[in-house]
Amino acid sequence: MFFIEITCIINIMDINYNADVIVVGAGPCGISAALEVARAGKKVVLLDRAKYAGSKNMYGGAIYKTALKEVFQDDFDTLPYERIINSHSWAFLNDTGSFSLTYQDSCESEAYAVKRFNLEKWMIEIIKKKGVYFAPNTLVKNLVMQNEYVVGVETELEKYYAPIVILADGVNSLLAKGLNLREKYKPKDVILSAKETIKLDKKIIEERFNLKEDLTNGVTKMYLGNPDGIKNVFMMGFLYTFKDTIMLGVGANLSDLVQNKININKLLEYLKNHNDIKPLIKDGQTLEYSAHLIPETGYNKMPKLTDNGVIVAGDAAGFVNSVHFEGTNYALISGKLAGKTALCALENSNFSQEYLSLYKKELDKSFILKDLYTYRNIIDRLYDRRASLMNYYPYKMKEFFKIVTSANCKSKSLQFREYFLSFFKDRNLKELIKDGYMAFRCVLDIFFGR
Ligand SMILES: Cc1cc2nc3c(=O)[nH]c(=O)nc-3n(C[C@H](O)[C@H](O)[C@H](O)COP(=O)(O)OP(=O)(O)OC[C@H]3O[C@@H](n4cnc5c(N)ncnc54)[C@H](O)[C@@H]3O)c2cc1C
Repeated sequence: MFFIEITCIINIMDINYNADVIVVGAGPCGISAALEVARAGKKVVLLDRAKYAGSKNMYGGAIYKTALKEVFQDDFDTLPYERIINSHSWAFLNDTGSFSLTYQDSCESEAYAVKRFNLEKWMIEIIKKKGVYFAPNTLVKNLVMQNEYVVGVETELEKYYAPIVILADGVNSLLAKGLNLREKYKPKDVILSAKETIKLDKKIIEERFNLKEDLTNGVTKMYLGNPDGIKNVFMMGFLYTFKDTIMLGVGANLSDLVQNKININKLLEYLKNHNDIKPLIKDGQTLEYSAHLIPETGYNKMPKLTDNGVIVAGDAAGFVNSVHFEGTNYALISGKLAGKTALCALENSNFSQEYLSLYKKELDKSFILKDLYTYRNIIDRLYDRRASLMNYYPYKMKEFFKIVTSANCKSKSLQFREYFLSFFKDRNLKELIKDGYMAFRCVLDIFFGR
């Protein structure tokens, strides 16, 4: 039925193409790619296995203004956000409390709290108006090949043909894997994340987080550190305030979870019961639980980004910066660049790998590969010292601030002296040097990054 609707049939290499570009995956990346192609007046087909776009996708809750504006331009003003996020905290958890840093600015904000389902729904409505043909409920099983070129996709019901296929099918990207563009992921290459959507009265959220009624401010909190019982698991927790819900989640390296035989729910329960977090979600009702993978392959394990007739983008290419909780902006902009490359290829009727490698050059110029390059070793460095970061320093911070704040009639000099000497007593010098070296190398990585 779709074949009849499309009027443009192009003949190249004896194939009847139904579209100029096929995009697999209607997350931020695929939608952005499809929009870029449609804006140039080309026929684009966007396919997603989910019944409704966004129903299979998951994130913490922050989408970023600059990338959204670059892709959706004036339509950005209709973004269905629930709160503007302008307070960011990082809390280092110990057994009974935490040490936190907060940055907030009520005038400037880059991040918006938008529910994932609403985000994709909003994006799909916009791109449909621009002429994108969107087919939900359509699982792409295979790529169609001819003369070593990808020339289409095979779904459960039918085949779709186009000279370019953009793979924006998310972290698992079985299609990129099937084409040998990437290796099979090892557990170390991914973070497993679990999240709960917790319902609370809007007024209660505003009281607990000191938020305004008009939704012009919101909070995000990142949590580092875990209890003694969960040693050697590199975990990060997150909390986002929405209008009348809170998103609370946690992510941990899959290899740590497997090696320590720890279920991700145990970490989520730990967070929910921590003294810092429990009062924030008290009397909340869990509406939804979801789990998802986040790629942590970064620059060093980047897949081959193009082949004859095919481009890989977004999570499918591992474009995530987990240190900064950024993924949607990488997805939106890499999708746009993939679309732009497809347009150039169509104009030149050249769909070869060599020609499509223009995409990599565009990515190199963008923040995407600059940042992934800068952070290429940082995750591994932090990961190697995770026992210190998770279990040692949060407790030393607790001791430090206990001295700073306890008016206990003891000499401060004596207490601080004892505190600094304790580093050499309860930790061997070699470990301290390794921690210091790791911090120094991370600073150098950032300073001499791209
Ligand atoms: C717990 C968690 C918290 C996060 N928090 C944030 C955050 O706060 N801010 C942020 O910027 N990023 C965050 N991220 C990362 C962000 O969600 C991703 O980077 C982003 O969604 C990637 O977009 P994408 O379009 O590349 O892939 P996805 O959003 O994963 O979309 C892929 C799409 O492809 C479809 N698909 C897959 N296979 C097929 C197939 N064979 N056939 C048809 N369709 C297929 C799927 O149904 C899906 O719709 C978070 C991620 C997680 C897991």
